[in-house]
Order: sequence, then structure tokens, then C-alpha cells
Amino acid sequence: MTRDKVRIRRDIASMSAYTPTTSLDVFAKRLGLPAEDLIKLDANENPYGPSPRVVEALASLPNMQVYPDPESGRLRELLAEYTGVPAAQILCGAGADELIELILQLFIEPGDAIINTPPTFAMYSFNAPLYHAEVIDIYRRADFSLDLEAMAEAVTRRNVKLVFLCSPNNPSGGLIAREDIRTLLALPTTIVIDEAYIEFAEQESLAQWVAEYPNLIVLRTLSKWAGLAGLRVGYGIFPRALMPHLWKIKQPYNVNVAADLAARVSLHDAEHLQERARHLARQRERMEIAFAELPYLAPYPSQSNFVLNRVTGMSAADFRDRLARAGIIVRYYNKPRLYDHIRISAGKPDQVDRLLEVLRALHSDNVL
Ligand SMILES: *Cc1c(COP(=O)(O)O)cnc(C)c1O
Repeated sequence: MTRDKVRIRRDIASMSAYTPTTSLDVFAKRLGLPAEDLIKLDANENPYGPSPRVVEALASLPNMQVYPDPESGRLRELLAEYTGVPAAQILCGAGADELIELILQLFIEPGDAIINTPPTFAMYSFNAPLYHAEVIDIYRRADFSLDLEAMAEAVTRRNVKLVFLCSPNNPSGGLIAREDIRTLLALPTTIVIDEAYIEFAEQESLAQWVAEYPNLIVLRTLSKWAGLAGLRVGYGIFPRALMPHLWKIKQPYNVNVAADLAARVSLHDAEHLQERARHLARQRERMEIAFAELPYLAPYPSQSNFVLNRVTGMSAADFRDRLARAGIIVRYYNKPRLYDHIRISAGKPDQVDRLLEVLRALHSDNVL
């Protein structure tokens, strides 16, 4: 018998594939509808797109033949102004997703564990095994609050290097109570708080807390509020002591010249983009109120640009398919605790009008 020459890691060979959201073209083809008629409310993207000034700036993007600034120096200065945190404690990445990986690389040695609090954003537990981290899942309570006792116990009993938290949480939409975060910060482990949706919330970012706690990392991104998801630019706010080590392991050219310029122009236009984010938050409020009036949806209170609903009287997958046939794409999770749930992202007012019209028609036609 010949021995295989090509031997990839056995754990990767047996790993299941991550399924990112499907592109609009793929959906359109599958549904037999033109892509421009679809209303995409499945990925929490910003329906207004980026700032018009970004579109203009990128049309004449200079220096594409030159490598980007490995320190993203100018961008970090602007982020320091925007967050009120010194630039020396900010590190940029190709999306917050890259920083999640970088944090795992920095902390995890074989035998270490991370705490994940499902239902939550999938990337924490998805990336962890690649870096040999054991994932301890501590499910949220029925109201999606954290099970602090179980988390504290896991930290005492196991080698928990990192606790990944998401606030506002994707997909449930709510913020983690500040006193809960204080309780967790007292534990002998590092807490990573992903604030991808904080610009849609009525509460301030915890960025300032990093000065106070040597075991707190805050992740943020321009993907959602600034509409730059496709360009991949996010950032982390880190305790001072971690920065020299992060610089050692970061890919030097992780933030490309287009993303860097787009992020800087967005920060110069932050007021306008924040006004749009508030506008989307108002559409989300409108959705929450309307959903609560439908007999088959029970929305959870949200502080983000999406609403999670429990679906009753039919399967959530069926509900998703019915909306898809009407050209509206929403997110269904084939996962524990979420089998009977649907997440719907806030759209522009006319998109929300159409969504509510379809939902009410489903109801009054009694097709359910
Ligand atoms: C969308 C999302 C991100 C992705 O951030 P990128 O900067 O686009 O990588 C991170 N965290 C959560 C919870 C998200 O929903």
C-alpha cells in the first residue's frame, strides 16, 4: 500500500464546513426572481451602503501598486478620536473576524479552553479548534441573558484563557448588562466583547473600560454602521500590555489600501453615517412593534439593526421559505435553541413596508 503524500491535519479533514450567507445572485437564481427585486434582510448589512464620499474617494484610489501602511497609522489616529482611546491601544484588522483569529493565536496553547455563550455569533467557536482551543459552550438562559454561575464555575475548573461575548448579541439583539460584564471581569481570564452593533444601541461602547481592566478586549467594525462589510475593516481596543505581542504576530498588510481609505473617509463622515444608523434603529423599532402584533411572531427586544423572533404555529424554516417566495430573504438557523426562530435585519422604510405587507397578507389569507 502506498502512503499518502498529501496529509492535511486530521481535525480539519473531519471538520464540518462553515456556511456563510448566500449571495443575492445565488438566491435570485434559486427563486427565479431578478436580483434587484429581492429584499435582503438576512445578514444585518447596511441597506444604505457606504458613505457617498467613500464611493467618490475609491473611484480615484491612489497607490494600489504600493503596499499599505502596516500600522494603519492614519486610520488608527482617526479611530482614537472616534473612540476616545489612545491610538497605541488600537489594532486594525481585515474585519473584526481577523482579530478574533489573532486573539486566539495570541492566547491559546494546546489544552486551553475558551468560553462561548450560544446562541451567539458563530465565528468564535468556528475559529477556535483551528488554534487548538477547546470550546466550552455555556448556553444563555431562556431570555438570552448569561449564565454567570456556570461561566464562573467553568473558569475555576478549566483552563479558560478567553471568554467571547457579543453585545448587542447576534442573533438575539440585546445588550449584556454592565454589572454582568463587571462580574466576569473579576474572573481570572480575558474577556473579549464584540461590539459589532454598538452604533445601533442606546448604550455607549465599553471601549473606555479597557483603560481600567487589563483583561478586557473590545472588538468593533466598520462593516455594519459604516456599510463597509465588503471591504473588510475592523479594529480592536486592547490593554497596553498586549499590544507589542499583537504587533509581532499580525500580518503586516492585513488592511488593504482601499479598506484603509474607505475607513478613514467614513470616519470623516461619521456624523452622517451615525444618523443613518439611528434611522435604521428606528426601522428596527418599527419592526419590533409590528411583529409583536402578529399572532405567529414573538420578537425579542433588540438594541441592534435586526430582530430575532420566535415563530409559532408553523416551522421557522417554512416561514423563511414563504418569505423567500415573496422575494424577502431572512435568516433561519438550524441550531439548538434557534430551531423555532427567525432573524430579520432592519431595511429601508420602503423595504420594511413591503415586509410588513407580506407578513400581514400571510396572516389575513390564513395561509398559515
Ligand atoms: C457581522 C459581525 C462581525 C463581522 O465583523 P467584520 O468586521 O465584518 O469581520 C463581527 N461580529 C459580529 C457579532 C457580527 O455580527
